[in-house]
Amino acid sequence: MSALRQALIIGGSRGIGYSVAQRFAKSGYNITIVSKNEDNVNKSVNQLRQWSEQNNNSVVVSGQVCDISRPESIDNFVKSLDQSLGAVEVLVNAAAVNRDKLLMSTTEDVVDDIIETNLKGTIFMCKSVLRRMVRHKKGSIVNIGSVVGLTGNRGQTIYSASKAGLVGFTKSLAKEVAPIGVTVNLIAPGFVKTDMTSNIIINPKPEDLIPMRRMGSPQEIAEAVYFLANASYITGEVLICDGGLHLVL
Ligand code: NAP
Repeated sequence: MSALRQALIIGGSRGIGYSVAQRFAKSGYNITIVSKNEDNVNKSVNQLRQWSEQNNNSVVVSGQVCDISRPESIDNFVKSLDQSLGAVEVLVNAAAVNRDKLLMSTTEDVVDDIIETNLKGTIFMCKSVLRRMVRHKKGSIVNIGSVVGLTGNRGQTIYSASKAGLVGFTKSLAKEVAPIGVTVNLIAPGFVKTDMTSNIIINPKPEDLIPMRRMGSPQEIAEAVYFLANASYITGEVLICDGGLHLVL
């Protein structure tokens, strides 16, 4: 096994998570990409390996399937890590679902899906991976929230609630684990060009609403994640990364 540092990227198969995986690989971290769909995991692992070969960096890229909305799936995933990995230095929680609806037409299964994936999934992943960080007295966790978890948004009551929940969770966990050398922070992106936003129809268009007049790229969010993961004296922080959107919401 390589002695390089290890980063676990949950939701690393696509979008922001994939760019985060690429950003850490660029700086020499071994990467484990985790997501729900096996084909997507395999595709992104192959893509990242190819990228790594082309760029002559010898990081080890692996993939694991895990449905974070099911605590037993997280347990199995973390047990499988025990056999294959050393210390996990970085955990990035980027997996989430988004099913926009007005509250009046939101059914219980939609509430459960969003809360179980975005909030409970992140909570249980942190809990499971933390055991390894505590053992090594080192680590950093970056959770991906959203600017709507801070400002709220019409049609996103449940998604916003899940992301607001992550803010309280991140700050509380940061207090719990600071004495043992683990940092916990949150990035709150605005509109970012990924599958999640490929079908949004809003008026005005995001570009007209955002003070910087453009949506963010996954790579820009990945830079902010990388910064926070390596900021050794920052914890419990919420870093908004949204081209100024929160200023006008
Ligand atoms: P995306 O392109 O839709 O990708 C979502 C990722 O989450 C995929 O890797 C997906 O895996 C994974 N995932 C979903 N449900 C899962 C589950 N139950 N178990 C494991 N993995 C699961 O989303 P994105 O835009 O990159 O978003 C990344 C993060 O940024 C999310 O937390 C999102 O809420 C947040 N965010 C995004 C925006 C934006 O404008 N895009 C704005 C604010 C915040 P599969 O490939 O296996 O389906």
